[in-house]
Amino acid sequence: MTVVTAANLGLVTLSAPAGNNAARLEALAGEAGRALEGAPAEEIAKWATDTFGARFCVTSSMADAVVAHIFSRVAPGVDVVFLDTGLHFPETLKVRDTVAATMNVNVRSIRPQMTVGQQDGEYGPRLFARSPDECCFLRKVEPLERALADYDAWATGLRRDESPTRADTPVVAYDPKRGKVKVNPIAAWTQEDVDRYIAQWDVPVNELFQKGYSSIGCWPCTRRTKAGEDPRAGRWAMFEKTECGLHV
Ligand code: SF4
Repeated sequence: MTVVTAANLGLVTLSAPAGNNAARLEALAGEAGRALEGAPAEEIAKWATDTFGARFCVTSSMADAVVAHIFSRVAPGVDVVFLDTGLHFPETLKVRDTVAATMNVNVRSIRPQMTVGQQDGEYGPRLFARSPDECCFLRKVEPLERALADYDAWATGLRRDESPTRADTPVVAYDPKRGKVKVNPIAAWTQEDVDRYIAQWDVPVNELFQKGYSSIGCWPCTRRTKAGEDPRAGRWAMFEKTECGLHV
């Protein structure tokens, strides 16, 4: 399989994805997405780290550490960005701390510009219950934009089987909103694939999965799910909202 790289596209500088360089990044992502469809996650991860080097990071919600673990094997020391909203379950922070202590990655916890108390003062308490889009923007979207300024490409743990809104997730794509390449190495995995990998490598997993949760975000916006429910039905259950804005 011939996989296009930044070098063979003549993409020397990836730090300013605008104009012609944006077009090249888009072409790079499109070609890689087609070439790597069906490839093992490790191969997709290797392509990403070989192509972007230090201008690449993994993002993790710390529901589990599967993607961070894959990259730790392929590119030891890789940056792993975690959005520390200030509203995470203690179990989620425990996964983050375990990853930092036991895996060969560089965990970067990115905080919002305001503490929860400062946000309460500015916008009123419990913004998440009144305007979750606004809360997610302040505590997730803006911090991610700030963190990604250091990179040209980022990896996520998005999977096609998680929800209908994620059913067409490509393994590599250009994110025109951010001008970056988005890498989804386990897009084609099923929950069974994830479980098998976790068992094989003894990967840290959020303890909330054993307590009835099937998708984990901030504690105010996450509830347990019932048997047969969509895995993401427990997120923002009081609203139509299904995504926090990081992946739209
Ligand atoms: S998930 Fe809920 S608490 Fe977390 S940032 Fe979004 S609205 Fe706020």
